[in-house]
Amino acid sequence: MSNCVFCKIRDGEIPSEKVYEDDLMFIIKDIDPKAERHFLMIPKRHFKLLSEMTSSDTENLGKCLKKIPELSDLLGLENGYRLIINQGDDAGQTVFHLHVHILTGQKMDFPHL
Ligand code: AMP
Ligand code: ZN
Repeated sequence: MSNCVFCKIRDGEIPSEKVYEDDLMFIIKDIDPKAERHFLMIPKRHFKLLSEMTSSDTENLGKCLKKIPELSDLLGLENGYRLIINQGDDAGQTVFHLHVHILTGQKMDFPHL
């Protein structure tokens, strides 16, 4: 996807603070953090929305999610964390390459969902 910022980060065309990478996904620091620590878990395969996932995307996303708690020490998740996936305009999605926000490092003082 030539115009996708996360594909460009994946391919090393845009710099990022990458904290983890494997064959399915990478994790970077969000450039505009909304919590004390704010990471983005980005599946390597480009797709826009949950509604566009193929069965292999579904399987891969499950593996990626399972990996997050295994990275607890690296990401500093020991006191808890919140995952957010924005979907579409009303949710404020700005990058249309599916990604999971990982918010941690503080009490979540915004409304509990
Ligand atoms: P969303 O609004 O859910 O689509 O989230 C997109 C996120 O990507 C926002 O939190 C942005 O701050 C973040 N972001 C955009 N460009 C970059 C970048 N080059 N490096 C790191 N994070 C970025
Ligand atoms: Zn992309």
